[in-house]
Amino acid sequence: MADIDRSRLGQLLEQEQARFAEIHPRSAAEYERGRASLFGGVPMTWMNKAAGGFPLYLEAAHGASVRDIDGLDYVDFALGDTGAMAGHSPAPTVAAVREQVAKGVTAMMPTSDAAWVGTELTRRFGVSAWSFALTATDANRWAIRLARAVTGRPKILVNSYCYHGTVDETLVKVDEHGNQVIREGNVGAAVDPTTTTRVVEYNDVDALERELSYGDVACVLMEPALTNIGIVLPADGYLTAVRELCTRTGTLLIDDETHTISAGPGGATRAWGLHPDMVTIGKAIGGGIPCGAYGMSAELAERFAGMPELDLVDMGGVGGTLAGNPVSMAAMRATLSQVLTDEAWPAMIALADRFGDAVDAVIDTNDLPWSVSRLGARVEYRFCRPAPRNGGESAAASDEVLEDYLHTYLANRGVLMTPFHNMALMSPATTPADVDKHTEVFTAAVAALVG
Ligand code: PMP
Repeated sequence: MADIDRSRLGQLLEQEQARFAEIHPRSAAEYERGRASLFGGVPMTWMNKAAGGFPLYLEAAHGASVRDIDGLDYVDFALGDTGAMAGHSPAPTVAAVREQVAKGVTAMMPTSDAAWVGTELTRRFGVSAWSFALTATDANRWAIRLARAVTGRPKILVNSYCYHGTVDETLVKVDEHGNQVIREGNVGAAVDPTTTTRVVEYNDVDALERELSYGDVACVLMEPALTNIGIVLPADGYLTAVRELCTRTGTLLIDDETHTISAGPGGATRAWGLHPDMVTIGKAIGGGIPCGAYGMSAELAERFAGMPELDLVDMGGVGGTLAGNPVSMAAMRATLSQVLTDEAWPAMIALADRFGDAVDAVIDTNDLPWSVSRLGARVEYRFCRPAPRNGGESAAASDEVLEDYLHTYLANRGVLMTPFHNMALMSPATTPADVDKHTEVFTAAVAALVG
């Protein structure tokens, strides 16, 4: 397999970053202006993860494309890291939100959209008692809290290199010696997360069995396929084994479907016939309007009903004044009923396959040691072959310089990929021509690299 010439790669990245600065003077100036009043110069510190050297500032976003303030247009495969999976500003969501904003934004009163959304999420994911949040992070936080409350167990278990939002208990990993350790970059942790959490590699049934055998784990919180350290897919039988081990040890299983909803309208849960006790989700289902949801099985809801001593109404630590507000409920109803419908997935998945097939062809032609991972409407290229089987392998295969080069090369020619990933997501508004544009530019980026 062909090796990448690192000095050539370094030079190419420099060239692309210079070009990026040249064609984006307004974004550069805004970035400079932000330094005076914004922490890190940006509205949120992660926005400094910008392969070109500074972030592009948004002018407008419609469907599968965005325009920056320099007037340049992009095919957007980042789609707000799934927040805009329904396409940017989908018309039905915009109409419903407009109407609701005019009628009242927040009032400490439920609206009749709530039961519709609960019923629809039940149809899609199987679990049947839903609550709402404003982010997937909060949905996870509250699901964990409820799992600890109902089981009376202190710990949770996650997969190494998982990401479930900024949830303290989850920022933990298995190191190269097999030790469970705090994740690098976890700032200001209240306690070492290994005191709250057990962590195992994804796809490692033996380790899961060992860690659950202590009997102190309230819940396993996992993505059915890892998506935040690159896509890592389940080995045959793995997810069945996880379910069995959870059942046998009285551990609750929480599937975080925030990204794996790419697998189908009911996420991996429905696409792969999974049976979690709880499902958490956010981002896509509100068409970009802040929302989150966590649902539990009827059996689990029954268990809570039998525990009147739990304070779930007042001080329970499960809450949020704006959670379940009328605007996010209206956004979820419109998005789920008219945009991210069951009928939307086949075309999105076909586009992801078109994207993946083209990248596979470029990899083969150039004999590169890379691979492509597919998860329904989501596809990602990885800098290793075969594709990684767990978070540790996946982390080891990351190549920041190569990633920055490809992202900057693509951005300079009108294609946006998800920062932090080489991930491309398809929306109902994405077209074959959008995918082919990526193919054309990606092919040229690789040709420049291999010389
Ligand atoms: N769960 C998963 C699987 C995620 O990928 C993310 C964010 N990337 C979150 C939860 C948290 O989402 P948010 O930042 O919107 O709360």
